[in-house]
Amino acid sequence: MTAPKIPDTCPRCDSHDVSLLTASPVPGRWFMYACGVCFYSWRSTEPGYATDPAAYPAAFKIDPTDIPKMLVVPSIPTRRGGTP
Ligand SMILES: [Zn+2]
Repeated sequence: MTAPKIPDTCPRCDSHDVSLLTASPVPGRWFMYACGVCFYSWRSTEPGYATDPAAYPAAFKIDPTDIPKMLVVPSIPTRRGGTP
């Protein structure tokens, strides 16, 4: 089996916490990677706009410092008993 070359940068958030998520059932066809910061995942065979940090659409880039401030969707309702 061909060993995967794990990318060092996440295409979406530019962090360096990238790991191998899984590999193709037929060995060596593709690999899937995951970002441990923004949880983006991508397959090695996807086009550059989904795999290359420089080509990833700027409108969809994420700043890791914004992640804790993002809304939880759907929101979690308060419990009926009054205690959150
Ligand atoms: Zn990321």
